[in-house]
Amino acid sequence: MTVSCAIPLPILDDGPQRPVHALGPRSLAAVRMLRISLTDRCNLRCRYCMPEEGVAFEPKEKLLDVDSIDRIARVAHGFGVRHFKLTGGEPTLRPDLLEVIRNLRRLPEVDISMTTNGTRLSRMAESLRSAGLDRLTISIDSLRPDRYRHITGGGRLGPVLEGFEASSAIFPAPKLNVVVMRGVNHDELSDFARFAMHHDSTVRFIEFMPLGHSPLADADPEAVLFTAEEIVSEIEDSLGTLVDLDSAVDPGIGPARLMAIPGGRGRIGLIHAMSRPFCESCNRLRLTATGTLRSCLFDGGEVELAPLVASDDAVIRGAFASCAAFKPEVHRGRGERAMSSIGG
Ligand code: SAM
Ligand code: SF4
Repeated sequence: MTVSCAIPLPILDDGPQRPVHALGPRSLAAVRMLRISLTDRCNLRCRYCMPEEGVAFEPKEKLLDVDSIDRIARVAHGFGVRHFKLTGGEPTLRPDLLEVIRNLRRLPEVDISMTTNGTRLSRMAESLRSAGLDRLTISIDSLRPDRYRHITGGGRLGPVLEGFEASSAIFPAPKLNVVVMRGVNHDELSDFARFAMHHDSTVRFIEFMPLGHSPLADADPEAVLFTAEEIVSEIEDSLGTLVDLDSAVDPGIGPARLMAIPGGRGRIGLIHAMSRPFCESCNRLRLTATGTLRSCLFDGGEVELAPLVASDDAVIRGAFASCAAFKPEVHRGRGERAMSSIGG
């Protein structure tokens, strides 16, 4: 499939983009995380994620069942994957979510996390923890109820903040994901940074990525992009100099650059996929809800795993290896599939 590059990616480093690793990101040995999308459905309609006119969801019978997810996860565990991230769409819509988590928990030495819009968390946090979920990331793109409703296509902020509070009492330091969009929420960066000052949480600012079709991706994505550099300078203008932290301070193996706010309890994370792509250190593959393995959010590189779940481990492992080999040197500036369908 040909995808046009709407935004030229500024490559800021002078050095080589792909350092010489012993194994390299295109090798299976470099894959340390599997993101598992449990459904492409969602109870919100974020303006940066889903099309306004409605989404054609996959028929439910095409979604991988619990046993197939377990089978694929076990093979991935067999070649060294220890980090599993449940995502979607909205993973809490999946009726057998707890079963998926319990199955993953049976694998030795795994870190199981989930990204959610938080709308159902106040009710579910305890059962998620008891099932064996280790960590949570909650997406909140505005701390203003009206704006939150606008961005999410009708969502209510109150229950999500309650979900965050409920989770904070049960999970270690839940993270916040904030997609920063110029002209939409970029004037709230200091508010989010203050939130991080008062909570033991990493607030991760994500650069908007033009993926699939959405009101923001279809309009003028370049105008929406608010870069990590701009984010830092905006926050420093109001709260003082931020201090770089070792990324190992945060649990997990995400790509965020971590920074501390002097005197604050929490941290700030920057996911600069557009202004400063980090493809050379990419350590993950994505499994869509229908069982397609995907090498990259932007570039295609997909392998169909669903027809292989009954095959020998070696066949499934081979499919993983083929997918890892598709990883691009640096991703394109525009992707043809929405995060919600890939498992963002
Ligand atoms: N529904 C869950 C949620 O919103 O957290 C999980 C799935 S959502 C696709 C995963 C993450 O991708 C969310 O933090 C969301 O904000 C982010 N995301 C979705 N579309 C994006 C885009 N076009 N650019 C940047 N981040 C995006
Ligand atoms: Fe749903 Fe998450 Fe996409 Fe928002 S970002 S529409 S909550 S999948």
